[in-house]
Amino acid sequence: MAFNVIGKTIMKSLFGKPATAMYPIIKNEFYPNTRGNIENAIEQCNFCGLCSRRCPTGAIEVSKPKRKWEIDRTRCIVCNFCVHVCAKKSLSTQRHYTAPMTDKAKRIYTLYGEAEKKDA
Ligand code: SF4
Ligand code: SF4
Repeated sequence: MAFNVIGKTIMKSLFGKPATAMYPIIKNEFYPNTRGNIENAIEQCNFCGLCSRRCPTGAIEVSKPKRKWEIDRTRCIVCNFCVHVCAKKSLSTQRHYTAPMTDKAKRIYTLYGEAEKKDA
């Protein structure tokens, strides 16, 4: 009996599909209920800072004078509080492919430039 179980497990391991994906060589598909990543349509943002004050993990920093909005993705738990409190509806969760992170960098959005990264 035990031999059958072990034999099945061995055969499954040898000939079954791998349990892990070859990410990022093979891009992961999001599951239907996955929330994805927070993105900011920066041209709609008025840099009020409400999202930053409501974020439970302190992942968002906003500078109104510099017109800068930044998020530390390693701290974000995708709770969506920031999306719900944003009166300008500039925040959303997007389920598109994101490249793997090789360092602790923040994703920075500025009103007058492209999104950039900086060391956390
Ligand atoms: S709450 Fe919305 S409008 Fe205010 S800083 Fe955050 S993203 Fe911008
Ligand atoms: S989804 Fe939650 S944890 Fe992530 S930035 Fe928004 S409020 Fe913070």
